[in-house]
Parts: sequence; C-alpha cells; structure tokens
Amino acid sequence: MRLILAEQVRQESMDEYGFGPRAMKRLKVCKSCGRASPSTESFCTECGAKLPEKNMFQEYKERHKFCKSCDTVVKDDTEYCPQCGEKL
Ligand SMILES: [Zn+2]
Ligand SMILES: [Zn+2]
Repeated sequence: MRLILAEQVRQESMDEYGFGPRAMKRLKVCKSCGRASPSTESFCTECGAKLPEKNMFQEYKERHKFCKSCDTVVKDDTEYCPQCGEKL
C-alpha cells in the first residue's frame, strides 16, 4: 500500500511541476510570452496571442529522442529504451 501511495504522490508532483507527460499533454506554451496555457485553448490565457497547434509534449518529442513504444524520453546515444527494452 505504501509503495502505491508513494508512486501516486510522485506522479502527482511531476504533473504539478509540469514534467510529467500527462501534464505536458495538457499544456501549450505561448510563443509570445512563454507562459503555459491549457491545450484546449487556441489563444494564450495571459496575453491573448495565438497558441501553437502542438502541445508541450508534442514539441518536446520533436526536440528529443524518445521511445516509440512507451513515450519515455531518452538520450540521443541510447540504443535500447531503459523502460521497456524497445530498440530505438
Ligand atoms: Zn502569451
Ligand atoms: Zn520504451
């Protein structure tokens, strides 16, 4: 039980600070003011500028190497996914 709880807390704090994939999928970053808005919005909730089509997670994936099978972001020289063992 404790282990499960600890895992939940870790996941929630990752989401809160914006590092978890779930949180990143929910956010878009404004190109004009750099603030995050919900990905359901078309315009920045801070400055009103048009938001990009892609959410934070999609943009992050374009800049980093990641595992196609489990979405784990890995270093550029990684050959096998540390999470699921998939060849990259
Ligand atoms: Zn903005
Ligand atoms: Zn993987």
